[in-house]
Amino acid sequence: MRLQVLDNEIRYECHSCAACCRQPWLEHVEDDKLGPVRGFNWGAKYPQLAGHDPILMAEVNGQQLPMLAKKDNGECLFLDSDNLCVIHKELGYEAKPEACRRFPFFSAPMPDADHISAHFACPSVQEGSGPSIQEQRDDILRTVPMSSPTRDTFTEVALLVGHLIPLEAAHALVDRWAGLFDPDQPGDLWARFARAIHVALQAVQTEPASLRAALAEDGFGTVQNVPPFARIDSLVDAPLPCRLLLALNLWNDYYPPQHSGARRPSWTTRMGLIGKVMHVLRMSGTYASRYLPGNVVLHRLSAPGFREATPPEDVTRLLCRWVRAAFRQRTFRRDRISMVAGLHQQIVDANCVHFYARAVADQAGREHPQPGDYHRALSIVGFGITSQVRAYQNVFRRRAMSLLESMDIGWSSLSMFCPVPLADASNRAGGAWPAEACPGASGSSRTVGARVPHSDWPGPDGPDLA
Ligand code: SF4
Repeated sequence: MRLQVLDNEIRYECHSCAACCRQPWLEHVEDDKLGPVRGFNWGAKYPQLAGHDPILMAEVNGQQLPMLAKKDNGECLFLDSDNLCVIHKELGYEAKPEACRRFPFFSAPMPDADHISAHFACPSVQEGSGPSIQEQRDDILRTVPMSSPTRDTFTEVALLVGHLIPLEAAHALVDRWAGLFDPDQPGDLWARFARAIHVALQAVQTEPASLRAALAEDGFGTVQNVPPFARIDSLVDAPLPCRLLLALNLWNDYYPPQHSGARRPSWTTRMGLIGKVMHVLRMSGTYASRYLPGNVVLHRLSAPGFREATPPEDVTRLLCRWVRAAFRQRTFRRDRISMVAGLHQQIVDANCVHFYARAVADQAGREHPQPGDYHRALSIVGFGITSQVRAYQNVFRRRAMSLLESMDIGWSSLSMFCPVPLADASNRAGGAWPAEACPGASGSSRTVGARVPHSDWPGPDGPDLA
């Protein structure tokens, strides 16, 4: 029987901040909810809605679907001046679209169960106060539907493309990864990600049939082909594939807001988009941000003050909680990407959080990001940036997906925002660092600016296990 497993670490109580009603997503309106929303005379009671069509049609995967209409500033049309929803006020909770009722909870379908957790875009989830998810179990299970995976996803999961591992081993691997991000343990975020890649490399160099036992006993052999870590002094020094993945993840931010998924951009708009992508790739110049009030000045984000800023411990704890909550959603996506690609995607998202924390601080004239800048950045990434796999698939097709599948590029992605050589970061993590994963620990390779070689490392086709 299929199960729904609740994430025990989530605590949440809505503050009615309405951040979720101001985000750029379009909310699909189910067929049985269309009639009441269309039939109510909104303009008679709410002058701000007069003359507006309550529903807009948007293309999703080639299908035209009804969505709640938006105001010109991108807020939901039904958000009232008291931060409450007028559909809820007038027609009741049950009349709201499923996505509105469900937020901030989401379901990550695994092959044998659904893992239910919450979006860290929501400030209340970030804060971690209020009743636990267990205490809200009945309400949550009423609004989060059970998924229906296909039969062939039940027994094996792709660790890399073409490299399947048994489901039990996949669970053990995700448990190991999640354990590395225990917020109660000290340690730098980037050192934890590096350790997670190291564990992934151990896993791909182990026979799938013995992987679960190896994980349980920590019985891995010596790991081969661990690349050296190179700190990058400037974001423009990051390898091109890493900058390309960042640029793709930021796609929504420089995509013109008036298009918001509903209309296909014109030829001239598309030409403008190419220019913005080039700016992000070169990490120079500016682009007009949809999520920040003004331009993002890219070259300033490599300033020494930002580069050397180590996030406060509370921020690292917050980001660790975020990574743990997203792990199963990211790594059990056999239908779309492998587990390693999911881990890499989480690293790219973490880069985006640091990118925005710097951008927010820069706009405020601060030399270092403050904790509030990271909270804001996490909301921006959660609401607008995260889960760009569809953009990768639709826009850049296989090329971008193969970048995500590559562990060497994942490793290089760590260097973009890590403020110190990973050896130093791992020393702060309590010394539990495999020396071969972090050559700088021996003091030998503080190779500022050097490039990571991308040669002898398992790429998207998986390692040679012979
Ligand atoms: S963002 Fe979170 S706290 Fe704010 S209104 Fe939405 S659910 Fe409530």
